[in-house]
Amino acid sequence: MDRGPILRINDLKVSFQSGGNYAPAVDGVSFELREGEILGIVGESGSGKSVTSLASMGLIPSPPGKIDNGKIIFAGKDITDISEREWRKIRGNQLSMIFQEPMTSLNPLFTIGNQLDEAIRLHTNLTKKESKSRCIELLGLVGIPRAEGILKEYPHQLSGGMRQRVMIAMAMACQPKVLIADEPTTALDVTIQAQILTLMKELNNKTKTSIILITHDLGVVAEICERVIVMYAGQIVEQGEVRKILKDPEHPYTKGLLKSIPEIRGKKDRLYSIPGTVPEPGTVKKGCRFAARCPDAFARCQMEEPELYKTQKDGHEVRCFQHTLKEGSGDHAGVTS
Ligand code: ADP
Ligand code: MG
Repeated sequence: MDRGPILRINDLKVSFQSGGNYAPAVDGVSFELREGEILGIVGESGSGKSVTSLASMGLIPSPPGKIDNGKIIFAGKDITDISEREWRKIRGNQLSMIFQEPMTSLNPLFTIGNQLDEAIRLHTNLTKKESKSRCIELLGLVGIPRAEGILKEYPHQLSGGMRQRVMIAMAMACQPKVLIADEPTTALDVTIQAQILTLMKELNNKTKTSIILITHDLGVVAEICERVIVMYAGQIVEQGEVRKILKDPEHPYTKGLLKSIPEIRGKKDRLYSIPGTVPEPGTVKKGCRFAARCPDAFARCQMEEPELYKTQKDGHEVRCFQHTLKEGSGDHAGVTS
């Protein structure tokens, strides 16, 4: 089934001031989110996942940040250069976002009811009474029982998992077309994490809201996403269907992430993590950004930066010279960016 894109990001470049200079945190990222799908964005901390999602919501803090390039097309409309006033109409309404627990915006001084009511009435003309029944309906939607009681409670009275459900309810208040969830389960324990992922999958099924799920854990992507984008040092290094990538990852970085999934690791093994860390923006001057950590790097990888190559698998792309060796061509016939 071919579905059209609801959100399209084209050649996004975002840099941040460090010292006197700007360094690129996101460097030429292009992707599309299709209607009704769940798209995963995965990569270690510092890969540029949050910057990509903030830019998609018009939320890059400037200074220290600056958008150098890129287009954002939402529901067929170019919203790249819209004013902050227009952004406010879209944000929280058609394009919504939830964050990891420590960054959530639940106010400790107000009840859940107050805060949900505010989220609803900010974007609709519902009366107080209509808003209350919408609150209860929303809490039901995110699987919270005894909704009437919860409305009177304060955030600290709820568990982490319940708070995250409330955040999701708030984000869904206006039936957004797109929900961006940035590490929504990272602060939660494994059982609760699984419940929240199931909930997101159910919401996606029921409401057809398209979801971008951002995580550092490829295991989370494996649970609910159809397609995945693997990011490293501000770039996409591999993308395609989750099923195919889990079965046959092509980029050495993706292979490393796959080895770090808890289920695959097994309980007895030591926790695997790729040796080294993601380079700071702008610090790799030459060659492949992953070469310093790559078990398979060869001479060319130190000298030249690989492009994002289309492989023979449908919709699959990989930024690695090994791919050109494998398919027996050193030329750039399949280059997409
Ligand atoms: P991720 O979400 O993948 O962990 P981020 O998108 O948050 O990574 O950040 C990528 C890089 O962008 C960071 O390593 C940092 O160098 C830079 N960066 C992000 N936000 C800021 C900021 N507010 N100020 C300065 N640099 C930033
Ligand atoms: Mg992040």
